[in-house]
Amino acid sequence: MPDRTLLRVEHLRKVYESTTGGVEAIGDVSFTMAAGELVCVVGPSGCGKTTLLKCLAGLLRPTGGVVEMDGAPVTGPSPAMAVVFQEYGRSLYPWLTVRGNVELPLRHKKLSRAQRRRLVDDALDAVGLAHAAPSHPWQLSGGMQQRVAIARAVAYQPEVLIMDEPFAAVDAQTRADLEDLVRELHASRRMSIVFVTHDIDESVYLGQRVIVLSSSPTRVQEDLAIDLPPERDQIGTRALPRFTHLRTHVYGEIQRARRGRAIAPRPAP
Ligand code: ADP
Ligand code: MG
Repeated sequence: MPDRTLLRVEHLRKVYESTTGGVEAIGDVSFTMAAGELVCVVGPSGCGKTTLLKCLAGLLRPTGGVVEMDGAPVTGPSPAMAVVFQEYGRSLYPWLTVRGNVELPLRHKKLSRAQRRRLVDDALDAVGLAHAAPSHPWQLSGGMQQRVAIARAVAYQPEVLIMDEPFAAVDAQTRADLEDLVRELHASRRMSIVFVTHDIDESVYLGQRVIVLSSSPTRVQEDLAIDLPPERDQIGTRALPRFTHLRTHVYGEIQRARRGRAIAPRPAP
């Protein structure tokens, strides 16, 4: 059932209240996502991407509108979702081994020790870190630490994997490898993934769809199908004229949104 609607966001609005007045981080955002999709959300820094993600994951209560997961409203932290944040350094427990970190959220699930062990082994294998199970996070590079965070999310078997600028803090080569890991997890495990980034090229390289956000108060500036071949590679795909065309189009949309005019999207590229 490739078209089952998994996530539905309707007229989402979020205002942060403070003593000096409110900040309208999200104005009016609506979109749906089908099970098994890899959707990138791209927008300039400060446009409300993290706020949107936290509302999706039930970590923040929206001011208005609804988020629905499999037809049911999300009202609190949802066991159906796993989130990978940018700051891998703060998301792993330094006193636990890699295995311990990946296993920790599974303790909330009704699983036998053998089942837990199997899920952890499988997830570490999927991210290429089977050999690092007994290490501690601080013994690993930044890129490897982020792989541990991804393994933890994979082992948890969420309905949706939500990633918030997960590779913004690693070097370019590591970043490319991690992007390919995300594509691979999506292709081989049919994982549903929402990937948030401020990097336009990254969004086009990774996504089957790119949702372009305007600056705050955020709206969906464009919802673009990425018609690049599903088999992608860092050199070949990025050299395709179609890739250049799409990333230039997205860049233009973000510029237009920032200027705050001509909000109706241009025809699809
Ligand atoms: P992004 O992730 O796209 O960089 P954020 O969602 O972090 O954007 O922030 C969107 C807007 O909301 C920004 O103007 C930011 O300053 C504001 N904001 C974010 N978190 C809070 C908060 N806890 N309280 C008040 N304002 C916030
Ligand atoms: Mg953010």
